[in-house]
Amino acid sequence: MEIDLKRLAKAIHLDVERAGESRYLVFSFGHSYIVDLKSDAPCHCADYAIRGVVCAHILACRMLEGDVDVLRSLRAITPLPQAGRLIRAA
Ligand SMILES: [Zn+2]
Repeated sequence: MEIDLKRLAKAIHLDVERAGESRYLVFSFGHSYIVDLKSDAPCHCADYAIRGVVCAHILACRMLEGDVDVLRSLRAITPLPQAGRLIRAA
């Protein structure tokens, strides 16, 4: 699963509610999506259904499930706190 960092950054800002064993309700900037991670078509948004990429809605659900690949990818878009202090001190 390729993780797009822009979509991952968006996923952090989405609210997710569990709606079943592998089903989630994802609230995304005024829209809501039903995501089923075990389905062949887990999301019906344009990103997944038309562009065929792993969308922010799926990433948000995988974060909630503790997916290690997704959680480790957060490192790429989140500076260490120490790095932030160095930038402010400069
Ligand atoms: Zn989606």
